[in-house]
Amino acid sequence: MDKYAIVSENLVKIYRAAGIEVPALQGLDLRVERGEIMAIVGSSGSGKTTLLNMIGGLDLPSAGRLYVCGKDLLKLKAAELVEYKRNTVGFVWRNGARNLLPCLSAAENVAMPMRFARKMVNGKLRRAIGLLDLVELKSRAKSGLSRLSGGEQQRVAIAIALANDPEVLLADEPTGSVDAGTSAGILDMFRRINRELGTTVLIFTHDREIAGKVNRVVSIRDGKAASEKIAAKSELSDASFGGVRREEFFAVDKAGGVQIPPEYLEKLRIKHGKVRVTAEEGRLVISAPDRV
Ligand code: ADP
Ligand code: MG
Repeated sequence: MDKYAIVSENLVKIYRAAGIEVPALQGLDLRVERGEIMAIVGSSGSGKTTLLNMIGGLDLPSAGRLYVCGKDLLKLKAAELVEYKRNTVGFVWRNGARNLLPCLSAAENVAMPMRFARKMVNGKLRRAIGLLDLVELKSRAKSGLSRLSGGEQQRVAIAIALANDPEVLLADEPTGSVDAGTSAGILDMFRRINRELGTTVLIFTHDREIAGKVNRVVSIRDGKAASEKIAAKSELSDASFGGVRREEFFAVDKAGGVQIPPEYLEKLRIKHGKVRVTAEEGRLVISAPDRV
């Protein structure tokens, strides 16, 4: 188990509101190795934020198993949960800037949540400036927040998430409200944090472009892991699917079901209904029913 930062097995979350039940996670299996940087992608409503809330200890699963850094999240006591949220996980939100204190400087904002004793104010500020350096904002450490751009404020929010040196960093649509150029810079920050601090990083996003920035992308659909793409060792370009060649794996559920992504169905002109499956020398070939 030590190899993994996160192990989720058959994780279920059902929201109950006004007499109706919404199944947000429907038996989700996921394993994330320590020190990995990966993305969870899925369209709106697929269960990304729900999963982040479970992993972050912000909400309790309805059933299944969930271990993060060896802790059983279905069994943590209230006090352990407080400690877990403060020290084991860090959070970056879509609008990270919203949680910043505008009257304080960037460095003071980063120092705020640090767990050290009060008298170590200088130590805290020094550490805060170190974290701002990591997100390439050292020169703006003393600036008031209103003087920073949206992208810079999001980087302050990332530095804050690292204040207590979490083992796992969880980011929910971290590039959701910035332009493409700024977004690339923010994703580079996550890679740098992963590389330099060894933090396990999970980025939850609807933006499939993220695939080029992380080694592994797990797609979720209807609250289940549907498929995953892993960067191939030989990063050959593949003309048919564009860009870097990736090995792709699909989850097989207990009933033998496999979900084929809509873009593949479209590409092969496979319509809803049936597909042709032929076994050929150790492989299965899936094609449209009217083709061989
Ligand atoms: P995503 O982040 O991928 O857009 P969510 O995890 O927010 O998806 O939502 C998954 C499903 O759960 C959706 O159908 C959503 O409407 C529902 N849902 C999310 N939060 C709640 C809640 N607090 N109460 C009821 N239903 C919810
Ligand atoms: Mg969401």
